[in-house]
Formats: sequence, structure tokens, C-alpha cells
Amino acid sequence: MPRARAREGLAAAIVLSCAAIGASGAEGFWAKGNTHAHSTISDGNASPDAVIKWYKHHGYQFLVLTDHDKVAPMEFFDRHTDASFVAIPGVELSATRALGDFNVHINALGITAPLEPIVKTEILPALTANMEMVARAGAVIQLNHPSFYLRDRTALSKVSDTFLMEVYNHATRGDRWSLIENPLFEHAYEAALTAGKRAYAVASDDTHDYQTFGPKRLNPGGGWVMVRVAKLTRDEILKNLAAGKFYASSGPEIDEYTVEGKTIRVRVKPADGVTYTIWFLGHGGMPLAKVAGTQADYRLRGSSLEKYVRVRVHASDDTMAWMQPVWPEDAARP
Ligand SMILES: [Zn+2]
Ligand SMILES: [Zn+2]
Repeated sequence: MPRARAREGLAAAIVLSCAAIGASGAEGFWAKGNTHAHSTISDGNASPDAVIKWYKHHGYQFLVLTDHDKVAPMEFFDRHTDASFVAIPGVELSATRALGDFNVHINALGITAPLEPIVKTEILPALTANMEMVARAGAVIQLNHPSFYLRDRTALSKVSDTFLMEVYNHATRGDRWSLIENPLFEHAYEAALTAGKRAYAVASDDTHDYQTFGPKRLNPGGGWVMVRVAKLTRDEILKNLAAGKFYASSGPEIDEYTVEGKTIRVRVKPADGVTYTIWFLGHGGMPLAKVAGTQADYRLRGSSLEKYVRVRVHASDDTMAWMQPVWPEDAARP
């Protein structure tokens, strides 16, 4: 979010059996991580060391530190990486600075040297120039708090084909961008998918406040990704983020998400006192099926609404999980 307003805004056993949609096979494990967090290097209120410590001590296996337009020295990330935790250098690029709530902010995940934003005055040139720069740098592109796309959806058809996009940004919950109250991010995400993009859904914290916890604070621990990895290394995490081998969550844990032949299967890990609804969504977010409970199967019918099919799990405590889309042409491939 605009920095001036300070509103910047498990262990599941998923087996993706179809390689084309990001299969992992039964081997490997899930690594919990956050791809959007700030420190005192920009407008966060904890030192980079304290930020790493928070995530490390709260069950995460990795963190991408993404301060506004600045990055800690690369040695910092090596120093904080060990067998149980990976610190990844990143940056949140302020690609526009004069569009208020609609500013374009793009995360570069996994940079190997400092990256400066290419600042533009309009959305499309800002997206294009910075997304290309991030790709050239070999980093993973993540489009942050994408409410601005409601102004310029045509931009989406003209940008890079593959990227990550926030469908949930914990820092902006409760205000007018909140997914629960006003699903602008999800609309932007659907716009990317309907534009034919390989857009992968991310939930992130966009943390700024590590000191005072409360419903309106920009706290850590509210939005994360679970990435399938064979080993816990920076390269492996980044490779599988880029390939969509992960799911996003603000609460629900997923036990299984498989595609076998024409059947998409979802199994949610039950939690005490929480009930679930599993939605299968097609082109444009069109509901294809809705199942109450923790288990659902959806058989692809070859309908025109199935250009892609994705799954969103709604929990009764107002949290959600987002599985990456299945593109039937991939599922049909041997
Ligand atoms: Zn931002
Ligand atoms: Zn941010």
C-alpha cells in the first residue's frame, strides 16, 4: 500500500498427480512462508533481525523480506539461513508514486543484488517495465494488493504471462480492500486469469507492525503460502513458487489436492469448531460446484466455463484457502 499512509497495506499431504499443473508427487514436504514483509529498512517497526526471528519462531520455514525499494546486504540473508529456515532477499518496487490507493507495487522475490524501481506515472507502463526488469533479474514477480486493476484491466492482457498475485493481503483486511467485505483483489485475480495469464494466487502478511497486535494492526501471521519442496533451499522455494507448486491460505490447511484424469479432489484438514465450504470456480469466477464439508471431488465436464478451474475453501471463522487453477489442457497432457 502507499507507504506515506502507513497502510501497507501443515504439514499437509497434497499430491498433485498431474505434472503439468505443478505436480510434486508424493515426495517432498510443505514449507510455510510469507512473501511480503517490511522492516526498519523501510517503514516496518522491527529490525530485519527481529523480523526474521518472529517468523522463525512462529512455525515458518521461509520469509521473503520485501522492504520498499531497499534491501538488506545479501550477507544478511545467508547469515539467517540454516537447515530449518531460509531467508530470501526481496524488494517491493514502488512502480508508481502518485496514484494514491491505486499505486502499483510489485514484489521481486529472490533478487541477488539491489533492484531499483522504474517509476512511471501510468499503470500499464509501470507494470510492463518493472515486471520485465524483475524477470530479467531472475526473480519471481508478485503483484501486490491489486485493487488498482479495477481502473485498468486491459493492462493485464499486455503484461508478462506468468506471475504471482495477492488475493489476500493481511494488512488491508478490515478496510475497503478486504476480501471478505469487498472482493476487489479476487476480481483483479479473475481478470488476470480471464486474460489468459498463468497467475498464481498468493496470501501474504504485508507486515509493518511487530509491536502492537490487534484487529486493525498490520501484523504478521495472517496470510501465507505453503510451497511444495524436495529440500529447504532458496533455489527450490523460488523455483516452485514460480511454477505454482503452492497454495495460499489465511487459515485452512489442505490435506490433499489432486488431479487424476478428469477429477479434481480436495481434502481439507478438519479443525475443531470450524466448518468448511469448498467452491469450484470456473472462467470469470463462475461457481461450478459448492460442497459443504472437508471433502469434495469435481469431475471436469468439458464445459466452456472450464477454461480453468480453481478451488477456494471458505472456513466458518472467515478465513480462506486458495488452490492454484487447473487448466484442463494441462490435465489432458500425458
Ligand atoms: Zn504495497
Ligand atoms: Zn508492502
